[in-house]
Amino acid sequence: MAEHEHVRVAVIGSGFGGLGAAVRLRREGITDFVVLERADSVGGTWRDNSYPGCACDVPSHLYSFSFAPNPDWPRTFSGQEHIRAYLEHVTDTFGLRPHIRLDHEVKMMRWDGDELRWEIDTAQGTLTADVVVSATGPLSDPKIPAVPGLDGFPGKVFHSARWDHDYDLRGKRVAMIGTGASAIQIVPSIQPDVEKLTLFQRTPPWVMPRMDRAITGAERWLHRQLPFTGKARRGLLFGIRELQVTAFTKHPGQLGMIESLAKANMAKAIKDPARRAKLTPSYRIGCKRILLSSSYYPALAQHNVDVVASGLKEVRGSTVVAADGTETEADAIIFGTGFHVTDMPIAERVVGADGITLAEAWKDGMQSLRGATAAGFPNWMTIIGPNTGLGNSSMILMIESQLNYMADFMRQLNVLGGRAALAARPSAVNAWNRRVQERMKRTVWNTGGCDSWYLDANGRNTTVWPGTPSEFRRATRDVNLAEYEVMRVVRAGAEARAEGRAEATESVAAKKTVAAKETVA
Ligand code: NAP
Repeated sequence: MAEHEHVRVAVIGSGFGGLGAAVRLRREGITDFVVLERADSVGGTWRDNSYPGCACDVPSHLYSFSFAPNPDWPRTFSGQEHIRAYLEHVTDTFGLRPHIRLDHEVKMMRWDGDELRWEIDTAQGTLTADVVVSATGPLSDPKIPAVPGLDGFPGKVFHSARWDHDYDLRGKRVAMIGTGASAIQIVPSIQPDVEKLTLFQRTPPWVMPRMDRAITGAERWLHRQLPFTGKARRGLLFGIRELQVTAFTKHPGQLGMIESLAKANMAKAIKDPARRAKLTPSYRIGCKRILLSSSYYPALAQHNVDVVASGLKEVRGSTVVAADGTETEADAIIFGTGFHVTDMPIAERVVGADGITLAEAWKDGMQSLRGATAAGFPNWMTIIGPNTGLGNSSMILMIESQLNYMADFMRQLNVLGGRAALAARPSAVNAWNRRVQERMKRTVWNTGGCDSWYLDANGRNTTVWPGTPSEFRRATRDVNLAEYEVMRVVRAGAEARAEGRAEATESVAAKKTVAAKETVA
């Protein structure tokens, strides 16, 4: 096999997960790593999503790294450009630039069971790595539904995460498809400019007011001068959300109270009872992500907005047709239809120890060990893996828990020394997922009566964590070696002969023998 550049760790993606992994690796004293990024700059979802109104619905002081507090957040809920700038700042502050390889899309990666390492084909060539940390994120590949006739639409078509800033929406008739977190931010932002906005709503969302305001100069000064005040602010935001979790996971009935608040929020802006009825969800609040906006309903009440309470079915020329037969003339179609979450395209590009892709291994549903590692994929882990999503708090908390796990994974490998690998035992993966799915049964995501992207094609919830972020933090503090098979390359010669570990199973021993044979020859 041709010799390629070799690194200890290849991180894929440079969003919050990938940059966080890079910082953590450096802090662990590991500098022999690269961050492979397919785009020409860092930032992940906060680079790709630049649609008008794009902002985070988690408060900034919580939606940031605990190790990189930002006393200068301009608003309680910061906009995309500030979050993106924050990630650029983190990249510089922690000296990550030398590790980052832009325009290095990963095309394919294969586990080399003889050498116990990954061979990674990128857009710029091949390299090998002992460990892969896949931080591609669940919200990276836009999903546009297969709509008959879309190809023949004479106007403009784009997805919320691929906004065409050169296209002038002023005076246009726009069909907005979807009513998720992205769409409800887009609608009020473009409504004043367009001639006509028709919103195709397949399922109405629950929308609560967003208490957004500018953070005053005094507050920022305080956070700069007395950093513990920023920490206290973060702690408070964290604590409030932590207390809310059991309503989502154990007592969905309690969420009924919030529904009244959401209905009042709607009634304030939407005076027409018929339109209110159209906009009122019929499932328990929280079953789908609770959306935060104080401008969505006021925008829907404007004269140039129409709501079609039906999904998009087909396109006939410039006519956009809903499932209920409603026809709308449009100059542009904007898809706010979400992402490939439970069928991540990166999974097609990872070939594991058994010669199958991660997508094949996960064909009946994604499953991992502690949201990180997967059976059949040694020395591979993912950040924001299966069942690590949150319904009400900051994903950065979960990412940092996964970074703890990654750091301990690397420590364990270092202790093993030489060329070694840790492979999640299928029994451990199954046991973890049984526990997760058992807990999932009572949650609002499974009992709330909605269909959401949290559920996969089989109706299984493989995306959300059915507990508190603190519980996940505890579950990912250390790698439990009993949950892994240890694999080692046994070299010829007394000086390099590896000792088998007590945990090694027969299958591992067999692999070791094969590896030993190969390397001896
Ligand atoms: P999403 O939540 O998956 O919403 C997709 C929307 O498209 C849904 O309303 C869906 O309807 C609709 N849809 C799909 N096919 C359709 C069709 N044929 N006709 C009509 N409607 C159709 O996607 P998103 O809004 O991009 O948000 C994705 C995730 O990104 C969020 O859940 C959140 O985690 C994240 N996000 C976060 C923020 C933030 O502020 N932190 C902002 C934006 C996005 P159904 O409901 O009927 O399926």
